Amino acid sequence: MPEGDTVWQAARRLHDALAGEVLTRSDLRVPRFATADLTGRTVLDVTPRGKHLLTRVEGGLTLHSHLRMDGSWRVYAHGQRWNGGPAHQIRAVLGNAGRTAVGYRLPVLELMRTTDEDRAVGHLGPDLLGPDWDPHLALANLLKDPARPLGEALLDQRNLAGIGNVFKSELCFLLGVTPWLPVGELPADRSAKLPELARKLLEFNRERPVRNTTGRRGQDLFVYGRARRPCLRCRTLVRLADQGDGSRERPTYWCPACQPGPAPFTPRR
Ligand SMILES: [Zn+2]
Repeated sequence: MPEGDTVWQAARRLHDALAGEVLTRSDLRVPRFATADLTGRTVLDVTPRGKHLLTRVEGGLTLHSHLRMDGSWRVYAHGQRWNGGPAHQIRAVLGNAGRTAVGYRLPVLELMRTTDEDRAVGHLGPDLLGPDWDPHLALANLLKDPARPLGEALLDQRNLAGIGNVFKSELCFLLGVTPWLPVGELPADRSAKLPELARKLLEFNRERPVRNTTGRRGQDLFVYGRARRPCLRCRTLVRLADQGDGSRERPTYWCPACQPGPAPFTPRR
């Protein structure tokens, strides 16, 4: 599942393949931009912004994409087989003399003026992996709605940008509270370290092919994806429940011993 670290990696792959080169192939397979043609233009840069990707092209244009749950950008050399999924899932093809970038299952793909990028990403809070990172603003944003469950506040990209559902569960574990704790009730020592802890986790993972929050080999995550398996710290069985505001429920993992705080009732299995 793409989170800030994955998007950062995708942006770098795309940047390395496309930036500074003239596009010789351009194919946007979404109805609104099907006739847009970017060939002949040089790609200036590819920048991640939270979980959004901005591909800036000569002439003041930006191709904005978002990977959401299972989108991906792959880069291929000439003659290499495209293997990111069936052809009907391809949403974008951008190529130059040496490489071709193929975007699969992109739920968001739009071409916009670079000066209008704020329309796509202006709502985002400080970017955990971006040059605008501001831990004080991120914390102030998180605490703005003190009654909101910590897990939901962390996922809200308007507070801070880059945390997805995996890092949400892992961060709550590292902070020693359940994801249902009202964010305003987080002890002061822990809320003070939250923004930098989040940034370190993403920073640590932005170069890694496999996400790791434990610093241990072979045990990559403390709780995420480990329902009914023993907590790496205390051996209590990890629990799983959905968390969300009703519109979108996300699987959420926690250790009931290491993480005190409110939690939904989960029947014993
Ligand atoms: Zn535990």
